[in-house]
Amino acid sequence: MRQSASKRVLVTGGAGFLGSHLCERLLAQGCEVLCVDNYFTGSRNNVAHLTNSPRFELLRHDVTLPLHVEVDEIYNLACPASPVHYRHDPIHTMKTSVLGAINMLGLAKRLNARILQASTSEVYGDPSVHPQPETYRGDVNPIGPRACYDEGKRCAETLFFDYHRRHGVEIKVARIFNTYGPRMHPEDGRVVSNFIVQALRGDPITIYGDGTQTRSFCYVDDLIDGFLALMDSPAAVTGPVNLGNPGEFTMLDLAEKVLKLTGSSSRIIHRELPQDDPRQRRPDITVARTVLGWRPRVPLDAGLKRTIAHFDALLGRPGLRTAAE
Ligand code: NAD
Ligand code: UDP
Repeated sequence: MRQSASKRVLVTGGAGFLGSHLCERLLAQGCEVLCVDNYFTGSRNNVAHLTNSPRFELLRHDVTLPLHVEVDEIYNLACPASPVHYRHDPIHTMKTSVLGAINMLGLAKRLNARILQASTSEVYGDPSVHPQPETYRGDVNPIGPRACYDEGKRCAETLFFDYHRRHGVEIKVARIFNTYGPRMHPEDGRVVSNFIVQALRGDPITIYGDGTQTRSFCYVDDLIDGFLALMDSPAAVTGPVNLGNPGEFTMLDLAEKVLKLTGSSSRIIHRELPQDDPRQRRPDITVARTVLGWRPRVPLDAGLKRTIAHFDALLGRPGLRTAAE
């Protein structure tokens, strides 16, 4: 029998980067948290500090398979997010997005639970509209190497809106722009963790292409604030809502910032630009500001400092600062 009246929340992908921060915040709010993960890119270590809480439960499960649990709310985050990882097994990535959405929406329908989807700015592909508002329908190559992720996430959005229209499921769709912070995997392959780890190890900073492509980087705490605000918004607010920091930087800008903040003497080298790499990306966050009252607060330098401190401590542990030694 349940001992308390606290909200029971399922977080799929809860042992990943964003998921672990979300689990932490939900526990701090007094929720019971069921963290579900197949540990493809996430790890038990990310949530080890939460396992002492009697309100936290960890379950190894792949969301491509049905799940029968009892919860009040669902955050569906399960999916590899780094291009290196989602391209590793593109068919499983697509299954995770599509079958994962079907299974979690089916669960939400049975339980009459609210469900939030971690969608992505990748639904805009290589955008020809800049900055990107939610009304922009995107420019995605459906047969390219990023398609398993981009089209998988687009299909998941379609499923969310069809379950909403057809079955009245209460949905919330967040389109997340590049988010960074502590607990990104050091070998994750995404640009912020790559540059920081390379700088701290004294390895060359790898810029793909000429480095003039842009991204907008949101610090993880801001993003989690946005998730919580969206989940708690009135039922009529379905999204999609862009969540991201509108500051826009080239990869050259980012490399220079990381070098300055780490005090590293790493040199910059250039590698081939991956196919279909978006040229530019910046969120229009008018909807998030006006509907959710949300805006990011942590500037890039401050967020990078916190992330660098995390990786510095992590790489300082024996056996991890290996690449340049
Ligand atoms: P992450 O790789 O750290 O986390 C993903 C988690 O999902 C991992 O713990 C992984 O093991 C788990 N997972 C993957 N496939 C699974 C499956 N089939 N069944 C169960 N668990 C599975 O990435 P993240 O940055 O924390 O991203 C979380 C979510 O947010 C993803 O859905 C991602 O697409 C989305 N997102 C993130 C960003 C970002 O910049 N961080 C941007 C856009 C969208
Ligand atoms: N990138 C880079 N060097 C790296 C990793 C990534 O120059 O070591 C570039 C990548 O080509 C892209 C940008 O950084 O233009 C962001 O890449 P990331 O994989 O972090 O996310 P994306 O927004 O492409 O999904």
